[in-house]
Amino acid sequence: MGRGVRATQQWATGPYSTVGKSEPLPTSDEDVGIDLGVMHFAALSSGSFIDHPRYFRKAEKKLASAQQALSRKKRGSHRRKKAVQRVAKGHRKIANQRKDFHHKASRALVNQYQVIVFEDLRVKNLTKRAKPKQDKETGQYVPNGASAKAGLNKSILDAGWTTFTGIVSVKAAWAGRTVVFVNPFMTSQLCSGCGVVVKKELSERWHRCRCGTELDRDTNSAKVILQHGYQHLSGGTRPTRATA
Ligand SMILES: [Zn+2]
Repeated sequence: MGRGVRATQQWATGPYSTVGKSEPLPTSDEDVGIDLGVMHFAALSSGSFIDHPRYFRKAEKKLASAQQALSRKKRGSHRRKKAVQRVAKGHRKIANQRKDFHHKASRALVNQYQVIVFEDLRVKNLTKRAKPKQDKETGQYVPNGASAKAGLNKSILDAGWTTFTGIVSVKAAWAGRTVVFVNPFMTSQLCSGCGVVVKKELSERWHRCRCGTELDRDTNSAKVILQHGYQHLSGGTRPTRATA
């Protein structure tokens, strides 16, 4: 099979296969910055959140027990073959659920917003682990937010963000919307109210600045991301790529 053939098939069955055709929408006067994350699937600069679907967790539990069952089966046995099938089915189910969720969430965003700004995840290492925090007196490691961060299995999250921003980009292009990708550097540390750096540990969920700005840290990031997107559209240099 030639390379081109495979590429075509991938297009037909891949994440963009049901994106749809050109359907320009009336111009919207609302724009949005989006912080994709682990606590929430997405924090919007408007202050609202898109949460990870609950069924991801359910499917994840099921998959974990199927994998455990598989590990107990004898190699070459009929039962093992069955267990392998169950694991594969679990993966397929999660992939389908994710695809469905991505399409619904991206459709909602494109319908509502004219300019959609994301961080460029190609330059952000999202799987980077939070450094363990050590208690100064006991020397014991204490929770640092990483455990909350790891609430959903990485395998479920990882396949998500790049595919999602890709789907949003395609739908946005069809609809005549603009998607901007900005450099993620410092977006979580800058104050959306006054622009100064407010250093925060990963475990600190709240952004509080001397200028009086107080809000959820991810919402703050989303607002900064939107500001950086505007800087790009007005001729600045922050973004790394844009679709329009
Ligand atoms: Zn401030």
